[in-house]
Amino acid sequence: MRTEWFDRVWMSGGLGFVRRSLGVAALAAILACGSPSSAMAQDAKPATPSAPTTPALPAATKPGESSDKPQAAPEAHPAPDADVAKLSALIERMARAVLATDIAGYMACVDRADPVFLQEQKNWARDLERKPVGEFSIKAENFRVEATPAESPIEIVADLTMNWTIKDAGSPRFLKFVAKFVDRKGEWLYAGENWKVMEREGVRVFFDAGRENIAATICEIMPAIRTHVQQGFALTIDRVQEVKLYSSMKHLQQSIYLSYTDGLGGWNEPGESIKLIASAHPDKEGLTSVLAHEYGHVCTFELGPKANDAPWWVLEGVAELSSEHYADNGQFAQRAVRRMAKSGRLRDWASLSDFHNTTQGDMQMVYTQGHAMLGYISERFGREKRIAWLKAMATGSNVDDASKAIFDLSFAELDAQWRESLKPQEEAGPVPAETPSKE
Ligand SMILES: [Zn+2]
Repeated sequence: MRTEWFDRVWMSGGLGFVRRSLGVAALAAILACGSPSSAMAQDAKPATPSAPTTPALPAATKPGESSDKPQAAPEAHPAPDADVAKLSALIERMARAVLATDIAGYMACVDRADPVFLQEQKNWARDLERKPVGEFSIKAENFRVEATPAESPIEIVADLTMNWTIKDAGSPRFLKFVAKFVDRKGEWLYAGENWKVMEREGVRVFFDAGRENIAATICEIMPAIRTHVQQGFALTIDRVQEVKLYSSMKHLQQSIYLSYTDGLGGWNEPGESIKLIASAHPDKEGLTSVLAHEYGHVCTFELGPKANDAPWWVLEGVAELSSEHYADNGQFAQRAVRRMAKSGRLRDWASLSDFHNTTQGDMQMVYTQGHAMLGYISERFGREKRIAWLKAMATGSNVDDASKAIFDLSFAELDAQWRESLKPQEEAGPVPAETPSKE
């Protein structure tokens, strides 16, 4: 998902209506002279990432230590027959549980050492209740031990091929990947992909061999992104942020839900890692803006237990705002909504509110219209009220109650005033391609 807009609304206390009415060009000039970020720095603590400690994970390399070239695969040895028999039984149990929509049965097969992987697997399994499979099978081959051969290995990897159909939907699908299993006191459990790991202060990147360069870039840029985005939310998150790099869209979709088919470039849900497709963001600029967007989701979820129940356009709008400093996409969104206002194509907010029920044609507007409204709110009311408004929804208020409480306006009044503000039609520029994309 592309993003843009200048820095004003993220860092400043809000510019209000008078300056807003000067228009985009004048506003950019004001900001070039002023330094909203220095005002911001006074009330935002620097991030203090804690040292990553997750004993269950494989030893991570640090960016400086890793070679830029793909590392050679470690020498593998066939896994002991007795362990292969146990793993085959485990995989059979996993497949039966998926077929029977037996969430607890499936989760009993999953390693619990990494809370992020555990949450991802819980969400994956819960989707089976919404969209059960018609067929599902797992073929496992080449059980092997990649570490020094031992009589009792504690990690075994295997090539898995999952084949499935979703009941009453779509054609057969499959995915092949290398999976890891771990021995927890005599019980073998499924531990997900056999990732390589790289980490730096506050970030841990999981990736496939051959993606060392992009993992190193993420390690390099993520600390500054975390600091910038946390400032916009007045938050300090010490927790290490996990980022998973998938080598294909198909693999990323499968890792979210078996039923997931929408196109996307990135993903984040509460308690999950930031998930990206490695090849979709080849340069540092693209990576920076998508990571800032996704980290905007991480920070939003930090505001309260109901954050993910906020209207979808709010979630994507503030995530787009989180990345506009890097993506320079704010003017793009503003031009787009002005043109849409002129031609009567602005959407009703209700049609942009439900992640699970948004039409393909409205999907891009979740981002663009959401971004424009979050920009408007930020300029008019400032960062603190924006945060308070988001927090109200994150703790259970609907958008109307939150707007009344924080802005002293019903949401209908706020919406009407926003639409009124779009009326001057001086801007000209490209209309965004309405390509469906979720991030
Ligand atoms: Zn998003």
